[in-house]
Amino acid sequence: MTNVFLGIGGNLGDRRQMLRSAVTEIRQVIDDVRVSALYESAAWGVTDQPAFLNAVVRGRTSLPPLQLLDAMQAIEHDLGRVREQRWGPRAIDIDILLYGTEIIDEPRLSAPHPYMTRRGFVLRPLADLAAGLTLPDGSLVGEWLTTVAQDDVRQIEGPGWADERDIEINDG
Ligand code: ADP
Ligand code: MG
Repeated sequence: MTNVFLGIGGNLGDRRQMLRSAVTEIRQVIDDVRVSALYESAAWGVTDQPAFLNAVVRGRTSLPPLQLLDAMQAIEHDLGRVREQRWGPRAIDIDILLYGTEIIDEPRLSAPHPYMTRRGFVLRPLADLAAGLTLPDGSLVGEWLTTVAQDDVRQIEGPGWADERDIEINDG
């Protein structure tokens, strides 16, 4: 089993529900899932688009890297079918941030994710789960966090936002 970290984000539709649905589907694929707090960050570049919600998911899997990517793209597609009809094309993005300590450089998959050490909206939630985590090059997540701007990254909900809903009691 390999420890993996996934970055999830979206900025269209019911963003929180979309990320909750993504976590629910991710739980079907990888084991021992833990989820960071939920963050909001302003979209940059095109500023008239909605702010993003982001979080990081940690888990363990026996899937090889490309099969994990296939599974995550299937979830994007799955949630995207609803999304395309109603909200547009970018409601959910699932990126593989880290696949264990492996360095992967393939046409379809780069790991660690090439931009993860530059993005506050990745590093903040990642640090929630693993501030002391060492990247394959020996650098620390917590140290990278001190090098990026975080003023536009705001925690809007603590861990637990993605918990499975309590089972409804129906013994009628
Ligand atoms: P982005 O995440 O860069 O905004 P997409 O989600 O559309 O864009 O992904 C584009 C492509 O990036 C995917 O088809 C996938 O093959 C590739 N890719 C490379 N490395 C990764 C990674 N670490 N996680 C997810 N996708 C990746
Ligand atoms: Mg992506």
